[in-house]
Amino acid sequence: MTDVTNISPRDKAEILAQALPYIRKFHGKTMVIKYGGNAMTDPALQADFAEDVVLLKLVGINPVVVHGGGPQIETALKRLGKKGEFIQGMRVTDAETMEVVEWVLAGEVQQDIVGLLNQAGGKAVGLTGRDGGMIRAQKLQMVDSSDPAKVHDMGQVGDIVSIDPSVVKALQDDAFIPVISPIGFGENNESYNINADVVAAKLATVLQAEKLMMLTNISGVLDKAGNLLTDLSARQIDELFLDGTISGGMLPKISGALDAAKSGVNAVHIIDGRVPHVLLLEILTDQAFGTMIRSH
Ligand code: ADP
Ligand code: MG
Repeated sequence: MTDVTNISPRDKAEILAQALPYIRKFHGKTMVIKYGGNAMTDPALQADFAEDVVLLKLVGINPVVVHGGGPQIETALKRLGKKGEFIQGMRVTDAETMEVVEWVLAGEVQQDIVGLLNQAGGKAVGLTGRDGGMIRAQKLQMVDSSDPAKVHDMGQVGDIVSIDPSVVKALQDDAFIPVISPIGFGENNESYNINADVVAAKLATVLQAEKLMMLTNISGVLDKAGNLLTDLSARQIDELFLDGTISGGMLPKISGALDAAKSGVNAVHIIDGRVPHVLLLEILTDQAFGTMIRSH
């Protein structure tokens, strides 16, 4: 990390003052943050993330956190002697895996994040999609990407039917920071495991968020040669899907990001969660980290 102890007080003041136009612009606006990747497992990055989210809240911006938990679920499954299986970037979820997903996400990961934010001076509240009847879901019909006639059985992987954001809005109005686990409920009260990127994207749309920021474990979307693509249009995304440049967890991330951009979320970014304080840099400076997704 850069040593900031030698910056003069005057320069510090100058740096702080440069955030003013951004604070003014975004005051009262909602920002949906997908928290995942390294930023979620490295203690120093966790602390930076918590400080950034709390600072945003205190300057009048409304952060909403949606978290993933792939590595933590993987560890818990391994302990039970189970191995995770993925199809087109989504975790196949049998009944036993669903139980693990629920207790790891809603029990462990969500509460860790709530604790972290509270420790940084915020008032965070953990929710799953069941709370306030927020996320209605149904079984996902996963069509094979190369054979449209083939549908994969993903078990209890959910497809979002609707999101009722009223509980999130009520919390925001009261100075709380919502922290949401990506679990939905079905018609018969059954649980669904939903990819966190998909939840973050849909929630950003329903809330008409100013920004959707997806923190990940890589510098952004990379091209075939491994170079960072700083900017992506819908047409370019189609090409990257077709030629196989995008795979695994990047598939639901980009589809969600593009849907949000097309549905009125002003700025959609996939950003490098390994950069300390990447959220503050992205929101309160003119620096950009990662890939911006355009609506057309
Ligand atoms: P998270 O959801 O926590 O951000 P994922 O593992 O689900 O992490 O998704 C990010 C991963 O997607 C990257 O680490 C990388 O392995 C994979 N990926 C696949 N295609 C690309 C691509 N074109 N550019 C960048 N990452 C990609
Ligand atoms: Mg993922």
